[in-house]
Amino acid sequence: MSDTFQISASALSEMIDHCKADYPNEACGYLAGRDGAATTAVRMTNAHASPSSYEMEGAEQAKVQREMRLKNLEHLAIYHSHVATAAYPSRRDIDRATAIQDFFDGCYVLVTLKDATPGVRAFRVRDNAVEELEVQEV
Ligand SMILES: [Zn+2]
Repeated sequence: MSDTFQISASALSEMIDHCKADYPNEACGYLAGRDGAATTAVRMTNAHASPSSYEMEGAEQAKVQREMRLKNLEHLAIYHSHVATAAYPSRRDIDRATAIQDFFDGCYVLVTLKDATPGVRAFRVRDNAVEELEVQEV
């Protein structure tokens, strides 16, 4: 199991731009790519439109997953922003990741906008345990 999360500079800036655009609400989306490296950020709608939670719509997720399959892209991560707290999974984030771990075994990327410079961290969550991965720009 890899201890790094690889992401291209363009995917990183697409993701951060999306998080800034949806501020003050949390933003959410997918990171997709090939050979374990994320090369594209897919913006998703936060159905909660909330500064403290997010929910992706099932229909939109199904559509995006279909598009990724057609492009031979792997779904590597789910990202979302925290507007006032650290880029670390909340209790709710950990519970949710554990609940879907048999369906999605990718990573979780958190973007914090609480400081002037956005912070990005990546994690793997299994059985309520959080393991941090080093974010590596490729
Ligand atoms: Zn969260």
